[in-house]
Amino acid sequence: MKIGIVGLGLIGGSLGLDLKTYGYEVLGVSRRESTCTKAVAMGCVDTASVDLSLLGKTDVVFICTPLGLIIPTARQLITSLGRNVIITDVGSVKTPIVEGINPLWENFVGGHPMAGTADSGIEAAQRNLFVERPYVITPTATTRPENIQVIEGIVQQLGAKIYYCQPEEHDRAVSLISHLPVMVSAALIASCMAEGESQVLQLAQQLASSGFRDTSRVGGGNPELGVMMAEYNRDALLRSLSEYRHQLDELIALITQENWQGLTTKLNSTHQARPKFVE
Ligand code: NAP
Repeated sequence: MKIGIVGLGLIGGSLGLDLKTYGYEVLGVSRRESTCTKAVAMGCVDTASVDLSLLGKTDVVFICTPLGLIIPTARQLITSLGRNVIITDVGSVKTPIVEGINPLWENFVGGHPMAGTADSGIEAAQRNLFVERPYVITPTATTRPENIQVIEGIVQQLGAKIYYCQPEEHDRAVSLISHLPVMVSAALIASCMAEGESQVLQLAQQLASSGFRDTSRVGGGNPELGVMMAEYNRDALLRSLSEYRHQLDELIALITQENWQGLTTKLNSTHQARPKFVE
């Protein structure tokens, strides 16, 4: 089977490394010529080009470009593909992508490998990135079962744990566990920066340790990614943020009222709930 990858960065490059290991012929397209040369040298792809027509004779194409370019890339790509080619994508928000590509291409299957590192670009590509990581496939009523099976077969070989859900469910779930934490963590850092007394602020900066490192990590990350999450998953994120504001109000009320029993009950329930999300 010939597999095409558009967007040779962290995800596209890592995908290529593994797919080549499993014996697929992998053809890559990226924006820059230098990236194409690197991707071939690193063993991510067999052949690479900046021209999408390279993928004309593939069986499956993974679109791994930045989120905002997935639909425009699909639109351009389909002009050079045979009708039976399956297109899938790896975008971390699903509803706008699936709604945008489904009407353009009947052999489209939305997907999201939930794996990554803090790095980006082809240099960040690594083998086995998807092993034991969730890989969400988001079919809709019109997605062809035989196409889902093909993508499932490839993803299984990557060693990922496959989950199926509707695009909207995916977006609400990732809003809760991925996009909301970025905003909460950013608000935490902003709250510290709002300290008016410079001596106190400086002392806080000197005393900050592992707890602050853990809770501020995602809020202090790449600003572009945070904006992308808010832009493409706006409704779900606003819903999560509203619930979070409600939770903050509850905590403020409990502490204002010195309701230590109520606060204990609340913190006991969060203590018990956490292991259901993370081991
Ligand atoms: P990345 O490392 O920045 O890779 C994207 C690559 O796309 C860039 O290196 C760039 O390569 C190439 N590109 C840019 N514009 C292009 C175009 N018009 N045509 C073809 N290639 C183009 O980003 P990433 O982290 O791999 O993310 C890619 C996708 O994966 C995103 O949609 C994201 O939502 C999704 N995702 C990311 C993660 C994560 O943790 N990073 C996890 C799951 C899913 P050049 O060097 O050629 O410019």
